[in-house]
Amino acid sequence: MKIKRLFIAGTLIALPLTGFAQFEKYFHNKTLRYDFYHCGNSTNETYYFDELIEEPYWGGSKNSMIDDKGYGVQMFKIIDKKTKKVIYQRTYNTLFNEWQTTDEAQKVEKGMPESIVFPYPKQDVTLEIYSRDKKGVFNKKHTQDIAVDSYFIRKSTPTLESFEVHYTGNPDKRIDIVLIPEGYSENEKEKFEAAAKAFAQEFFSFAPFSDFKEKFNIRAVWAPSQESGVTIPGENNWKNTATKAQYYTFDSERYQMIEDFQLLRDIASNVPYDYMYVLSNTQKYGGGGIYNFYGISAANHPTRTGKIYVHEFGHVLLGLADEYVGGVSYNEMYPTDVEPWEPNITTLKDFDKKQWKKMLAKDTPVPTEAKTENCELLGVYEGGGYVDKGVYRPWVNCMMNNLHKTETFCPVCTWAISDYIEFLCK
Ligand SMILES: [Zn+2]
Repeated sequence: MKIKRLFIAGTLIALPLTGFAQFEKYFHNKTLRYDFYHCGNSTNETYYFDELIEEPYWGGSKNSMIDDKGYGVQMFKIIDKKTKKVIYQRTYNTLFNEWQTTDEAQKVEKGMPESIVFPYPKQDVTLEIYSRDKKGVFNKKHTQDIAVDSYFIRKSTPTLESFEVHYTGNPDKRIDIVLIPEGYSENEKEKFEAAAKAFAQEFFSFAPFSDFKEKFNIRAVWAPSQESGVTIPGENNWKNTATKAQYYTFDSERYQMIEDFQLLRDIASNVPYDYMYVLSNTQKYGGGGIYNFYGISAANHPTRTGKIYVHEFGHVLLGLADEYVGGVSYNEMYPTDVEPWEPNITTLKDFDKKQWKKMLAKDTPVPTEAKTENCELLGVYEGGGYVDKGVYRPWVNCMMNNLHKTETFCPVCTWAISDYIEFLCK
């Protein structure tokens, strides 16, 4: 009996620390936030440190500490200084990287406030930030040692009122969405509460999110704006609002985005969260969503509010690509000689290994003709990622494509969304 027990103990010691035990060993149950400025032009990018902030909650996973799914344009690693072990890793996209593909970035140097968050380390760590080059390879761009006991780490405390919209349980086993109001004035609190409720209702009315209702928590933070409504520069209409969102981002009318990402973090930090979504107090069609960054869209659009929510959240959750053609001001967002990392578009450069080849029915022609009788057929249709040639999509019309014509995500997007939800909720 004694021998057996000893044997079991020996076996346990030999196993590497996984999941929760790893979290307990390396992290406290709160957030460390690293603020910086992402600066450069169309070909260069540099990161300038701003400040470190301690936030009271950690809303992320305590099991899936290393995200190696291969998504994203940016990646950061938190490395334990003593053992040199990577103890946390995430990927994400930024508005700055999108801006780099615009005409303006060829003429102007610009900086945008950015920020990354990770669970608060118990011992000193090194932060490394990587960026993907045109060939799709991650290169290390920024390194900084972080002394976790430094008294210069600013402590933030929750000051804004918050409320639960949809609660199913423990945040580290759930995807926690925080809803943030844009353009709701002090006396429009009830309107925002109704919009937050409607968000949850709409969000869970579309598959595959409807299948994962129990894997989400949704909370909202009440951050009133000085003025009601939204900023529309193209109409010379400027409002003093909580997140300073603007339509006409990169001069694209319906692209409503927020440049001051740190401002969003300040509001979101009042609750535990994984993803930020901003409800914009307007009927004007539009919005945007960036992978592991934030989403924003019109809360009062008369017909398509819910579809826009789930479309943008497809970008925010796992960086799904737009499957449509045109409509943006980017130059060569997807170089056609490189297989994109996004799971739902292909350039056919490495389709067999990296993309949805294994999901295709045996005799499906590649590429596939986009005709009416193929509208339910998983294939490889030319046109996607904003261009009509050289980039292919999996379905004639998925929810990541034209929102007028569909209510369904294609099988590839459905698989990728479900897979990522399972990963984050392990
Ligand atoms: Zn799709």
